[in-house]
Amino acid sequence: MAEGEPVNGKQPTLFEGTKRLVYDEAIDLTLQSLQAYGPDHDHWGIAWSGGKDSSATLTLIVHLIDVGRIAPPKTLTVFYADTRQELPPLAIAAARIMEQLSERGIRCEVVRAPLDKRFLVYILGRGVPPPNNNTLRWCTRQIKIDPMSEALEARLDELAGNILMITGVRQGESAIRDQRIAMSCGKDGAECGQGWYQQVLPNSKGVRGRIATLAPLLHWRVCNIWDWLRIYAPMREYGGWATAAIADAYGGDEASEVNARTGCAGCPLASKDLALDTIVATPAWAYLAPLKGLKPLYRELRLPKHRLKKTGLEFRKDGTAAANPQRMGPLTFEARLMGLDRVLSIQSQINDAARAIGRPEIDLLNAEEEARIRELIAAKTWPQGWEGDEPTADTPMGLVFRDGSVQPLLV
Ligand code: SF4
Repeated sequence: MAEGEPVNGKQPTLFEGTKRLVYDEAIDLTLQSLQAYGPDHDHWGIAWSGGKDSSATLTLIVHLIDVGRIAPPKTLTVFYADTRQELPPLAIAAARIMEQLSERGIRCEVVRAPLDKRFLVYILGRGVPPPNNNTLRWCTRQIKIDPMSEALEARLDELAGNILMITGVRQGESAIRDQRIAMSCGKDGAECGQGWYQQVLPNSKGVRGRIATLAPLLHWRVCNIWDWLRIYAPMREYGGWATAAIADAYGGDEASEVNARTGCAGCPLASKDLALDTIVATPAWAYLAPLKGLKPLYRELRLPKHRLKKTGLEFRKDGTAAANPQRMGPLTFEARLMGLDRVLSIQSQINDAARAIGRPEIDLLNAEEEARIRELIAAKTWPQGWEGDEPTADTPMGLVFRDGSVQPLLV
C-alpha cells in the first residue's frame, strides 16, 4: 500500500495528508519493528498495565491492524494486569478500553492475584504488614509478576508454537534494561513492575523458549505518548479510543513536566502520592481525595503497637537463636479490623460523593474481598511462623542477641 493511501478506500490512516501524525518517524520505527518481527509469530500477546505506555502500545497496535498497516496474527491476547489497587481514573479508562476491545472481538484476559494474595486481603486478612522499602517488599511479585506469569503459562498451554509478547516499555523511561528495576517501584516516570516481563518471561518454568518479546514503542518520547493518548487515539479515524482520561490522570497539559509515575493508590513504597495528588487536584476527580488516607494508614499499620513481636527466646530445633530474634511480625486482629474499617470508610465516603455528583464510583474492596478478610480474621489466621501468642511489639522486653545472650530490661 502506498504511503497516504486510504485503507479500504474509506478509513484515513496515520499517514494521510492533513492528519499526518506529527511524530510519524516514531510510528514508522514502530511499524518497522512490528513488520520485521510480527510475521514470525502466529500468536501475539500484549501486556497491558492500564498505564500510559502500555495503553498507547495496545491502542496503536490494534489501530494499525484495523487499518491494515500490519498483518494480524492468528491470535491476539491482551493481558490486563489488574492489581485491584489501580488509580481509579486509570481503572475506569481500562474498563472502557476493554469494552472497545471486546466490540472488536479481541480477547482480553483480566489478570489478578488469587483472592487470598491480593494486596488488601493479604494485609488485612492474613495479617502481613504493608510492604516497605526495607524488609517486606512482597507486593510487586505477588500482585503483578506472579499472576501475569501464570496467565501467560495458561495461555501458552492452549496454543501451539510460540508467542510474541508485546510490552509498552520505553527506553526513555528509565534504565529499562537494568534488571535492578524489575522488582522495584518505578523511578523517573516509570511504573511499578514495568520491568516484570524481563523478570518473568525468561525465567518462567515451562515457557522458556516459547516467548519472544518486543517493545515497539521503545524509542518513543513521552511527548509522543501524550499526543497519541490525548489527540490521535481518541479520534474516530484512529480508533476512537477512551485514552484521553489516561493522559488526564497523569496531569493533562502539565503531564510531561511532572514525574509521571503511577502504581497502586497509596503505594507505601513511594515517598509521595504524586499521581494521586495530580488526580485529586483535577476538579472532576477531587471527590477521590479520601484516597489520600491510604498511605498514612499503611504507615500506621507498621507501628509496633499494631504488630506482634518475637520474644527472642524461641530457639531453632538445633538450639541456635533465630537470625533476627526479636523481629516484628504480623498485624493484630484489632489492627486488621481497624484497617478494614478505615478502607471501607474511605470507599464509602468517595462513593457517597460520587453518587451525589454523578461521577464514577470506585471499587477499592469488593464484597467478596471484605467477606474473605473477615473470614480469615474469624479463623484466627496468622502468617507462617507465627502462632498469635507472641506479645505486641510495643511490649517492653529485654534485648536478646543473636548468640542467645540477653540484656535484661533496665527498670
Ligand atoms: S505500586 Fe507500590 S504497592 Fe503497588 S505493587 Fe508497586 S511497590 Fe507495591
